Amino acid sequence: MYFAGVIPLDYMRKNLFFLFLFWTVILAAQKKNHNQIDHFDFNNIQARIQINPAAGLVQGTVQYEFEVLDRKDTLFIDGRRMDFAEVQLNGSPANFISDDHGIYVISKFRPSEGNHIELKYSVTPESGMYFINWKYPQLDSSEKQVWTQGQGKYTSTWLPSFDDIREKVEFDLSFEFPSDYKLISNGTLVSNEKINDTTRLWQFDMEKPMSSYLVAVATGRFDAQRQTTTSGTEIFLYYQPEDSAQVEPTYRYTKEIFNFLEEEIGHPYSWKNYKQIPVKDFLHGGMENTGTTIFSNAFLTDSIGFKDRNFVNVNAHELAHQWFGNLVTAENGNHHWLHEGFATYYALLAEKKVFGSDYYYWKLFETAEKLKELSDAGKGEALLNPNASSLTFYQKGAWALHVLREKLGDKAFKQGVRNYLELYSYKNATTDNFLAEMEAASGQDLSEFKTDWLEQSAFKAAQALESLKKSEFITRYLEIAALREIGLNAKYELLKEQLLFPVNEYIGQEVVHQLAGLQSDLAINLYKKAFESNNIFVRQAIALSMNQIPESLKTEFETLLRDESYLTREAALYKLWEQFPEKRSVYLSQTRNMIGFNNKNIRMLWLTLNLVTPGYEVDSNEDYYQELAGYTEAWRPFQVRENAFGYLFQLGAFNDASLKSLILGTQHHTYSFRKYCRQLLAELLKNEQYRQQLIKLSAEMAEEDSVYLRKQITG
Ligand SMILES: [Zn+2]
Repeated sequence: MYFAGVIPLDYMRKNLFFLFLFWTVILAAQKKNHNQIDHFDFNNIQARIQINPAAGLVQGTVQYEFEVLDRKDTLFIDGRRMDFAEVQLNGSPANFISDDHGIYVISKFRPSEGNHIELKYSVTPESGMYFINWKYPQLDSSEKQVWTQGQGKYTSTWLPSFDDIREKVEFDLSFEFPSDYKLISNGTLVSNEKINDTTRLWQFDMEKPMSSYLVAVATGRFDAQRQTTTSGTEIFLYYQPEDSAQVEPTYRYTKEIFNFLEEEIGHPYSWKNYKQIPVKDFLHGGMENTGTTIFSNAFLTDSIGFKDRNFVNVNAHELAHQWFGNLVTAENGNHHWLHEGFATYYALLAEKKVFGSDYYYWKLFETAEKLKELSDAGKGEALLNPNASSLTFYQKGAWALHVLREKLGDKAFKQGVRNYLELYSYKNATTDNFLAEMEAASGQDLSEFKTDWLEQSAFKAAQALESLKKSEFITRYLEIAALREIGLNAKYELLKEQLLFPVNEYIGQEVVHQLAGLQSDLAINLYKKAFESNNIFVRQAIALSMNQIPESLKTEFETLLRDESYLTREAALYKLWEQFPEKRSVYLSQTRNMIGFNNKNIRMLWLTLNLVTPGYEVDSNEDYYQELAGYTEAWRPFQVRENAFGYLFQLGAFNDASLKSLILGTQHHTYSFRKYCRQLLAELLKNEQYRQQLIKLSAEMAEEDSVYLRKQITG
């Protein structure tokens, strides 16, 4: 029965008392949330999630199966800024409240197994899930994607889940999505039936548990090439059909890397399959979601670009994480190097297999130089410092493992790593857990190693150098590098020797760098030898480091325009155009059809040079300008926009459309691009004409799109 009107006083008092209690419980829950792992163990999630990409909306029903380990009155699930419609606990409606962090379910939880909780929720994720180009209805569907980034704690922006990486759950997710697109998520695809004219239901199954940050979904107009590894794991290499010519060079060595890592680590790959998906405007290089690596489509490349920059390192790094991070997860941020140091080290081993031992030692040498510099400046960081930079977590971590392996020997090192992986599979581990396995496998005491390499902030540069000198190549390189301050006469014969066939590309580059700025006959002779080496990287070093092209090397320098390197061609075109004005039209004709990397580096340089070459193709200038300015359009990849903004800035030629795109860029989700746009905008605001133009445009634009500019204008 329900009585309207006067509420009896004692009832109100009771209710107030209840409310008071209720809030204390919640406050306690918020404070003690990090202890939840001691009270509940979540085993499995089944979720059906509808993604409405045009509205940026996610709705779903989530069911968790869990155990209660210890009594507790509140159960918390992370879910940022979500609306929760109803909650069922073991089949009955349950009390709950929610805030910006998630949902608190109130009940007298007592130790028990086989509990179920079901939540209905909806959310428009502000981060974590990204809707690329859906606000441009005129665009072709091939330009539209949705993808997620879960690490750090972002899966809870679109899926009620657990920010605590210790809570490992078996995720069985289903998604409803517009039927024109492929949808990829963790696990095995069970079915993808159309459920109505416009929507398809994608159902995935996982068999093993993982932390929530490793959940992923990606959608787009994807096809896939399928490969099978030696041990029988299926690999799916995704791509959009318009990029099909780039599939082979982009994914080159994928199967070799997989086979190598499985053999080298000695513990089988633990997931059902392995998928790699290149996405537009990704936040990072790649992300190792379990069995489902998402990576930046900036790594898509043809065979020429492959030589300049390729996906091999990131490919191997994300795959190594499937063991180090995904299978065995660090207990907390203090042990982050158990993810990044290991992924970096094992990627380097895979690259050694592909590119050879000189490459391996060269990379270690390069990172040792950086770590030493940081350390000498008093800014060295301990590997166990949870706030260390990525240089420390990644490179110092890899160095620590390199040194540890030398100390223990291959056999004990591999045995220890294998034991560590077996013991902590699908669980969490600490640095001490790892060291204990290494000590047991080797019979050695590792306390000094721990102090020197994990706890000490300084980098052990002398020990690193000793290790590097085991490489004959590094020893020879250091001998040549030691000649930098010596006059050319004294070292001519020695340098010349380094350029004889077969030239070592790192030493060859060092020789070229020592010639920089020299124009003597001896220098010209050596440059000629360097050109003749036909080593693409030695020749690239000339293109990048030679600022004055001597007349006697002009013919050789011109051949760089045809080298199999987009970096070389770009540098050579600019330098030749700059220094030989009488031949500008010849150089521009020779490079007319070159595009370069996917960021169109050569094409945009070519357009810009055309626009500033008096008397050359003047009739086409308007078209060339429109093409260049068009590359700033807001739907284009940010790498292309950034390049075009740079050239328009140099030309002083922003139009309204490109300024608008720049303003939009100041709100972009990718940090580096957003920062670039903000800095460029600050430069433009110093110019009175641009300033007036920008003020006018900001008034025409939606407030959320121009909020940064508005702040700058009003100061
Ligand atoms: Zn990583």
